[in-house]
Amino acid sequence: MTHAMANPLLDADDLPSYAAIRPEHIEPAIDRVLSENRTEIERLLAARTSYTWNHLIQPLEELEDRLNKAWSPVSHLHAVLDSEALRAAYNACLPKLSAYATEVGQHQGLYRAYRQIAEGSEYVRLDAAQRKVIDNALRDFRLSGIALPPDQQARYKHIQQELSQLSARFAENVLDATQGWTKRVTDETQLAGLPESARALARQTAQQRALEGWLLTLELPSYLPVLNYADDCELRRELYEAFCTRASDQGPNAGRWDNGPLMERLLALRHELAQMLGFQDYSEYSLATKMADSPDQVLAFLDGLARRARPQAQRELAELREFARAEFGIGALEAWDIGYYSEKLRQHRYQLSQEELRPYFPVTRVLPGLFAVAEKLFGIAIRLLDGIEVWHPDVRVYEIADSSGQPRGRFYLDLYARPHKRGGAWMDGCLARRVIDGRVRLPAAYLVCNFTPPLGEDPALLTHGEVVTLFHEFGHGLHHLLSKIDYLPVTGIHGVEWDAVELPSQFLENWCWSREALALLAGHYQTGEPLPEALYQRMRAAKTFQAGILMVRQLEFGLFDFRLHREFDPARGGRVLELLDAVRRQVAVIIPPSYNRFPNAFTHIFSGGYAAGYYSYKWAEVLSADAFSAFEENGVFDAPTGARFQRSVLETGGSRPALASFVEFRGREPRIEPLLRANGIKAAA
Ligand code: ZN
Repeated sequence: MTHAMANPLLDADDLPSYAAIRPEHIEPAIDRVLSENRTEIERLLAARTSYTWNHLIQPLEELEDRLNKAWSPVSHLHAVLDSEALRAAYNACLPKLSAYATEVGQHQGLYRAYRQIAEGSEYVRLDAAQRKVIDNALRDFRLSGIALPPDQQARYKHIQQELSQLSARFAENVLDATQGWTKRVTDETQLAGLPESARALARQTAQQRALEGWLLTLELPSYLPVLNYADDCELRRELYEAFCTRASDQGPNAGRWDNGPLMERLLALRHELAQMLGFQDYSEYSLATKMADSPDQVLAFLDGLARRARPQAQRELAELREFARAEFGIGALEAWDIGYYSEKLRQHRYQLSQEELRPYFPVTRVLPGLFAVAEKLFGIAIRLLDGIEVWHPDVRVYEIADSSGQPRGRFYLDLYARPHKRGGAWMDGCLARRVIDGRVRLPAAYLVCNFTPPLGEDPALLTHGEVVTLFHEFGHGLHHLLSKIDYLPVTGIHGVEWDAVELPSQFLENWCWSREALALLAGHYQTGEPLPEALYQRMRAAKTFQAGILMVRQLEFGLFDFRLHREFDPARGGRVLELLDAVRRQVAVIIPPSYNRFPNAFTHIFSGGYAAGYYSYKWAEVLSADAFSAFEENGVFDAPTGARFQRSVLETGGSRPALASFVEFRGREPRIEPLLRANGIKAAA
């Protein structure tokens, strides 16, 4: 059959047609776009001998956009609605996409054309964002091996293909391992201590699978309440073990989805790639596109924070031990006891439980509240859009308009945990802002979370932690959607140094703690009663509860990731566990059991974009805490300060170095004190 069915991945001129996309559309669409793009690149190069922005770079952007439009819905579906057929089609495309990216990156003709523009008279007449597009492109040619001899270029291409496949397999293993273990409870007394919401979720999960009793899973809305509240320490231990051995050689599913060999292979290939390009190791390669200047600077930054935070973390842990001993007669705290007794201590000290706050954060109140906060800060208005195709009935679509009523972008919101959806929370671009035929095509974004779903008839009741996550992702969303840059490679989050990407997201989290903002976003789901002052005061007081422990844990991840890529030695392999031990001896205060295989599910660095970049969270937190301190000085809803942040940071995308944007907003270089203060950590080392 040669009859060409309409392919929704090719014909979308706006948002993807989620109702129409089928796995069988994927490969033909990608094959066609890649082949047409290749032809078009050659045609563009052959058409002239002297190149210009309008005759080369602008049309190339069109090609990139077309590929994005075909692929972005696929990779999105792979994350939120995985199935065997989709996975097969997705994986079949990965090597093709990778090969194409390498070919473009190593294309001598294209490289010469870019250089000609960069060195020609047009360059100085282009605007700063356009020059940044060209500078980034030249840098990326070098990072793609443009200067390598042909045999090494072929090797580079092969490595990139294998890396993309390994990364995908890594995430799939984690998803499968997360779903591959459940615990059915038939005697409710075993659930003693669990809040009503967690029980109701477990009951609902069991019912959905036609099972009697309660079903506990390793998805966070199920897992975390067990670790934090279940009185039965054997139940906690069982879930802890299953969770922290996912995709490994340990635990109840030992060897079944083991990511161990994949990690070794990923590290070895990354190292080889970096060295081929003239870097000492992958950490150096990673920094080539980041704000940080050198691996030593990153390590010194993390070490410095650890030195300051660790004494506090040690004190907090000693207090916890003492509390568990004095109040509960517990001699030794095991890894699965920490959350449980921490929650008890929080209760004891602040009379505050996460569960107590939940009724004040119904999603029906939090969302309008979040939008109201954004409206006050940035003068934007957000409204629900009807009639847009989505991939799941829970998904909603919204439009952002500015103060003059001009639409600025749209976003999908997919809030709840469900099977076949990757864990965690993230923002991803769907469309990037750009100019087509003289008119602005507005951006679109995906905001994805894994919150506790609504139970029965009630709206979903969020924990305060979930509210913070929502603000975080929304901050990323604003960064992508409020961009005023019209060039795809540097608009929104495109082209932003990775270690600055977490600035707008962590920045927005601060409003979850502000009294004025909470007045907008908290209200009892039954009575509408605002968050009581006493509860708010206890919540504020508990804000830095165990902040030291939390900080050293993040630093442990950051240092582990960075040193893993910095110290890789081909002769000795990744030594993943050995290195993790060493990092823990240096910074950690809690040492987990030896079967813990946390790296095997560390998708951020093995299948996300955070390889030798997990430190970015802390790096950007310096920026975000310092940016927020401007609002502490001027008022949390100070409109001029909000407008300045929008103009300097949110609207400028990757069109200039992140440091320049920060300095324009703050009037000076970033300082670390606001971060320390926010965590209750003393500035003196
Ligand atoms: Zn983030």
